[in-house]
Amino acid sequence: MGMSAKQSDTVRQGSAQPLILMEGVSKWFGQFQVLRDIDLQVDQGERIVICGPSGSGKSTLIRCINRLEEHQQGRVVVDGIELTNDLKHIEAIRRDVGMVFQHFNLFPHLTVLENLTLGPVWVLGQSKARAQENAMHYLERVQIAEQAHKYPGQLSGGQQQRVAIARSLCMNPKIMLFDEPTSALDPEMVTEVLDVMVGLAKDSGMTMLCVTHEMGFARQVADRVIFMDQGRIVEQNTPDKFFDAPQHERTRLFLSRIL
Ligand code: ADP
Ligand code: MG
Repeated sequence: MGMSAKQSDTVRQGSAQPLILMEGVSKWFGQFQVLRDIDLQVDQGERIVICGPSGSGKSTLIRCINRLEEHQQGRVVVDGIELTNDLKHIEAIRRDVGMVFQHFNLFPHLTVLENLTLGPVWVLGQSKARAQENAMHYLERVQIAEQAHKYPGQLSGGQQQRVAIARSLCMNPKIMLFDEPTSALDPEMVTEVLDVMVGLAKDSGMTMLCVTHEMGFARQVADRVIFMDQGRIVEQNTPDKFFDAPQHERTRLFLSRIL
């Protein structure tokens, strides 16, 4: 845990398996090919930012990692488990992989605390007391403990997204996937969510894949930035090289639009 990309690269030159392996992954929605021959390896503790134009396949790519989408060609192996139609494998991987969406997806009829304890009690079999203690720990970590007994609808968007992050952490995942976690937020709430994510990256050594166009965040925490276009990984590099010397015309065009 907590290895930098450089250290983990060195380790990988041995025979250590990457935590996430995608090999020749392709996927179609009907006739439309959304992912084209994706090769991606992510080591434990690595932090990846994925960017690219709308419709380039970013969401589909990360959703293939926890089987919210099914790939049709190639292999996806997560923590040594290959994703097939075997439901046991899918369940095991979903337990290891937390996901935070653009639109929070909290249960509106449950309090914040109940949202956080539901999974740990019913899926992980934790006692209610243990789950609540754990939940309060993570709510403190995202600086929202005082809202534990409110309902999601009583919170701001930024607060709800921090609750959603805490809820994922309560499941003790090995990998966290974020799909544009700040793009539905009012501008003044973006920072409070990004700060939580930066803290998570720096303090926990969590393996993170984050689809975002927040390039300040990418520079601050990413080991690697991946640029996708039309279902392909066009370019990937360390943030400094990626932003300062993009190699491909499409990357330059994209960066000129968002920066
Ligand atoms: P991004 O996250 O980069 O915006 P997506 O992965 O969401 O891209 O989508 C890539 C392309 O696949 C888009 O053109 C989108 O319209 C299409 N697509 C996504 N989900 C579906 C689906 N369930 N059925 C059909 N087409 C889809
Ligand atoms: Mg998307």
